Amino acid sequence: MKYALVTGGSRGIGRAVSIKLAEMGYFILINYHANQQEAENTLQLVREKGSDGELIKFDVASQEETETALGKWQAAHEEAYIRVLVNNAGIRKDALVMWMKNEEWHDVINTNLHSFLYITRFLIKDMLINKMGRIINVVSLSGLKGLPGQANYSAAKAGVIGATKALAQEIAKKNVTVNAVAPGFIRTDMTKDLDEPQLKAMIPMGRFGKPEEVAAVVGFLASDEASYVTGAVINVNGGLYT
Ligand code: NAP
Repeated sequence: MKYALVTGGSRGIGRAVSIKLAEMGYFILINYHANQQEAENTLQLVREKGSDGELIKFDVASQEETETALGKWQAAHEEAYIRVLVNNAGIRKDALVMWMKNEEWHDVINTNLHSFLYITRFLIKDMLINKMGRIINVVSLSGLKGLPGQANYSAAKAGVIGATKALAQEIAKKNVTVNAVAPGFIRTDMTKDLDEPQLKAMIPMGRFGKPEEVAAVVGFLASDEASYVTGAVINVNGGLYT
């Protein structure tokens, strides 16, 4: 059995990634924070692909919750290890810097950036021992280009991009790859409050992306075909770079 953990697997891009990895034969650990019903819906879709999975609830922003949940899973599966980690869970709390509250800054940094450390550090040891692992971080156009109103989110995603490149070099010799996927505007709950008609006019392809279009790239990075790709940031943005 090959195991993959998808954080924020209950909705949006994380759901599409869970389905893609299930198609590739992975058993999926579907992490979520609050939305159990949606996580169960993802599990059902995973099963429809002929694979299986389980729900694993923890707040990625909490080191304690993360380590407790993953530790329990490991204790119950002594022979197993998580071979693919998709750090996908994320939030945005937009505000201009001038008006940004400490809480908006810290919540976004904790959930999008600190979670990378808590989860990756916990799972990396088994990947190194087994000399096989894939770590895929879902970042954002916002972390590459910076977007006004998103200083917290841009900083968090830029931080994960830097960490991706550093960690890739730390562990490349052990056949564990670390890459990032940077979506542009993708149609999910996260973007449903945005003015799509106005924003899509800026996108060369003239439309928002679909979660499945991000999941396809994550699937490639998780596959054996991507064995020589590490430290990369792959854009999935319909041509929107500036
Ligand atoms: P979404 O539809 O809002 O889903 C967010 C997911 O993250 C949900 O599964 C949610 O779980 C989970 N989550 C949020 N906070 C969490 C926490 N503290 N602990 C555990 N899980 C948590 O978002 P999305 O659009 O799919 O975004 C997925 C990733 O892509 C994020 O990292 C986001 O920053 C990135 N991204 C998205 C876009 C876009 O246009 N949509 C563009 C660039 C990058 P619950 O269901 O339990 O709440």
